[in-house]
Amino acid sequence: MSKFIIITGGVVSSLGKGISGASIGKLLQLNGLKVNMIKCDPYINVDPGTMSPYQHGEVFVTTDGAEADLDLGHYERFLDITMTRANTNTAGSIYQTVIDKERRGEYLGATVQVIPHITNEIKKRFTAFENDVDVSIIEIGGTVGDIESLPFLEAARQLCLEKGPENVISVHVTLVPYISVAQELKTKPTQHSVNKLREVGIAPSMLICRTEKPLSDNLKKKISLFCSVPVQNVIECADAKSIYHVPEMFYKQGVDKEIMHMLGLKPTQEVNPAWFEFFDKAMTPSKSVRIAVAGKYSELQDAYKSINEALRHAGMNNDAKVEIVYVNTEKDNVEEKLKTVDGILIPGGFGTRGIEGKINTIKYARENKVPFLGICVGMQCAVIEAARNLCGLHDANSTEFDPTTKDPVVDLTPQQKNVVYKGGTMRLGNYTADLKEGSLARRLYGKDQIVERHRHRYEFNPVYVKQLADAGLKVSGWHEGVLPEIVEREDHPYFIAGQFHPEFGSRPMRPHPLFDGLIKASLKQKEGKIETPKATATRKAKTSVAA
Ligand code: GLN
Repeated sequence: MSKFIIITGGVVSSLGKGISGASIGKLLQLNGLKVNMIKCDPYINVDPGTMSPYQHGEVFVTTDGAEADLDLGHYERFLDITMTRANTNTAGSIYQTVIDKERRGEYLGATVQVIPHITNEIKKRFTAFENDVDVSIIEIGGTVGDIESLPFLEAARQLCLEKGPENVISVHVTLVPYISVAQELKTKPTQHSVNKLREVGIAPSMLICRTEKPLSDNLKKKISLFCSVPVQNVIECADAKSIYHVPEMFYKQGVDKEIMHMLGLKPTQEVNPAWFEFFDKAMTPSKSVRIAVAGKYSELQDAYKSINEALRHAGMNNDAKVEIVYVNTEKDNVEEKLKTVDGILIPGGFGTRGIEGKINTIKYARENKVPFLGICVGMQCAVIEAARNLCGLHDANSTEFDPTTKDPVVDLTPQQKNVVYKGGTMRLGNYTADLKEGSLARRLYGKDQIVERHRHRYEFNPVYVKQLADAGLKVSGWHEGVLPEIVEREDHPYFIAGQFHPEFGSRPMRPHPLFDGLIKASLKQKEGKIETPKATATRKAKTSVAA
């Protein structure tokens, strides 16, 4: 049977509950325990798929096609586990399940209420992995005191009652702000936040205190006394060198030992410091490379969380610091900004704003032989660019941006044309792609079939595949022979774009091949050693003949 750790947050949002939870999970995993993570989001949307990145940041996609919170990305990257629908729950999805049951008559005779019907459904989701893992870590989104998170907290309280306090503990992530005029760290907000938690019947077992300055022993004692949490469980969480240093920071304070002690768990192996050392080493790379991320949310880093991480992973693998240069394709003078970079990435996106800037960015990458990776709408824009500028189809467009275009090089499939509901109806989650022999894609992945996660409605219109290939933009990956998945150019050192989202599959110690390829090519570009795949192939052929 699984033990449970309930993670809540207090005082303010954006304290990094996800990173804290993932770090605890990582430490338990390093102790040899089997861990899974569950995210609960208290909003009424069934999933975040219909929300703007301004509201929500990135929408993470699970392998089985759920649209989810970006914390699931942290869980995957820290624990190297694969997320599915069972890892993500919103208030909307819970109410939807309960209301569907009510309509089916499953509660005949009863008044359907928050307690017990909603809370029972929440507990069912909390216990989704209880037979598979040693520890389920459940992160409850929002801030304690919000009306919306109350049913989740109530369900957590009940879970603790039912399973016993030796099987369920609460970890509260809170803020200890530094007031500069008083030159003092203040504990009052934490005290209030813990009181709020106690009001709903949850007594925290551990406090993770986010702070800009070190917490003195005296301050820890004060927090311990006022919040009734043992002093060794008052944990300092200062701003770390990188998110991947948080597990080590917790380890040094004995977080894993205390948690295992409270839950009566025994480690099955000694913690191997290799994970910590890997990230320490990664802090001092000998090279650096500038990569443009050209999209419309340049000021909103959360919108490109997994992209940023995937770039960093590839950087670490190549002993290079990746400096990300955000290019706003709606507002910036694209060419000016691109002059300073070694590589270009266009991330996924929706809607017309910023599209012409993305197309210009791709033209620049193609003409100036700057390494380029296009993701989802990045691939669609590469198709539009080539159609307009190389095939003479001046009106070419995606029907998403111009429904009346004469040349719909990117279009809806007949199936998508019939879609009425916007939520959860895109092409979502894992799909296979077969890679063409001799292609860049095949070389990068080192295999002939791949599986990647998708989140889009529109597709490269197969009617135009031949015409674009004649202009040098070739399809090198197909889904079941009918949907183009990857395009690339041979007359360019690194020009590749995929209809899917490779960023979700990247891991710190296992960078994604397309990102790794981009960084490698960009480093070469910086050193002035870049050559096109065609030239490389010819040189290799000549060398082998000579040999
Ligand atoms: N807007 C495009 C589509 O729906 C691309 C989506 C994306 O980039 N994720 O097909």
